[in-house]
Amino acid sequence: MQPAAKATALLPECVYRDGAFETGLAVVLDAASGCIAAVAPVAQLGDDVARVRLADRALLPGFVNTHSHAFQRLIRGRTQWKPAHQPDADFWSWRSAMYDAALRLSPDDVYESARFCFLEMLRAGYTSVGEFHYLQRAPEGDPYEEPNLLARRVIEAARAVGIRICLLDVAYACGGIATPLAPEQRRFATPDLDAFLEGLDGLTRSLRHEPLVTFGVAPHSVRAVPREWLQPLHHWASQRDAAFHIHVAEQPAEVEACQVAYGLRPVELLAAEGVVDARLAAVHATHLAPNEVALLGEAAATIVACPTTERDLGDGILPAAALLAAGAFIAVGSDSQTIIDPFEEIRLLEYHERLRTLRRIVLHGQRIAPTLLDAGTRCGAHALRIDAGRIAAGALADLVAIDLRHRALAGSDLDVLPEHLALCGARDLVCDVWVHGVHRVRDGVHHDEHAIIQSFRNLSGAT
Ligand SMILES: [Zn+2]
Repeated sequence: MQPAAKATALLPECVYRDGAFETGLAVVLDAASGCIAAVAPVAQLGDDVARVRLADRALLPGFVNTHSHAFQRLIRGRTQWKPAHQPDADFWSWRSAMYDAALRLSPDDVYESARFCFLEMLRAGYTSVGEFHYLQRAPEGDPYEEPNLLARRVIEAARAVGIRICLLDVAYACGGIATPLAPEQRRFATPDLDAFLEGLDGLTRSLRHEPLVTFGVAPHSVRAVPREWLQPLHHWASQRDAAFHIHVAEQPAEVEACQVAYGLRPVELLAAEGVVDARLAAVHATHLAPNEVALLGEAAATIVACPTTERDLGDGILPAAALLAAGAFIAVGSDSQTIIDPFEEIRLLEYHERLRTLRRIVLHGQRIAPTLLDAGTRCGAHALRIDAGRIAAGALADLVAIDLRHRALAGSDLDVLPEHLALCGARDLVCDVWVHGVHRVRDGVHHDEHAIIQSFRNLSGAT
């Protein structure tokens, strides 16, 4: 009989918890559960624990990418500028370019683009991704023989890389409010709500033993589903304690259309349908009226900000200070994959507010770093309904190590390290990544990255 494997204790220079870095701590991993067994002073470790010294490393909870469309990585660099023949460039022209890309992809292309995108996330320090999955059908708009084929390929891609995934299955029924889908939206179609939920239940059941895979549900937006669908979708999530996400008020045109159709702004509509609660993750929310901020705050809902995408698409600026003051939580996502860097997403929450208010230190006073780091970690985990984003006994062992010898940290010290990372950090500082207790990125390298990058280059050249 094999002897039981020893538990492993990570011994970094310092550990981030409760808003500060502490020295002298060991983080003990439980290989069987993929969780953190204990966080304890090194001096208290027993002899039965294997010690892994992480010299010059600071340990943080892994970042949570709460909103992603992995296939959009393919259009990075191709849509950030305006070709001469295009008279106007705005969110809607970007959307056309994105649709063009979506229409071309085979199931293998979906897999390859997602696998590469997830690799880039993992290398940047994201240990979980909420994949807002709406590419469902074959290029001509017919369902695949296995209707969840593309969702399965995306999940396979996450497994291949070793990132945790919450597959947010998207219901997408209309091209605009009470408007049929446009031909270029045919791959997103959800013609029947009951069939959609049955399919999602089947997918959930078939993958229930996968430790890195969970599911949530996502009406695409108030534009893309009838209001009568909001309650049953939310009910599905509530019954299973699953995530419930929706794009909200990303553009003024969406707010206006909602007001014309229903006499309500988007968050007012969600509230009227009874789905504004602590489970709600409202993506973008860049165009809110004060009463909508109050509704989200009173419900302790989460807003998923995607500032690198929002600035690229000209979406506007999240009213982050008002939302936090009202009681809402803020998480972040890489969304269109323009940039994949959790440090940049979190610091823009503050810096965009500075540009808007012409003031400095806008979010939560002098100790701003814990607010921003929470947005990148525990608030995203809450929105995905996973127990990650914190270094504590019982939480999932999803961790990143920062290289304290990196030149960008020269001159820093532990007292200001949270601020240095949250306001001035970048993905290059991440040197090691663990997901579910497994060491996936070691000294800046993922074991399979060369093959994955080459496959993506081949795909990118071909599409
Ligand atoms: Zn999105």
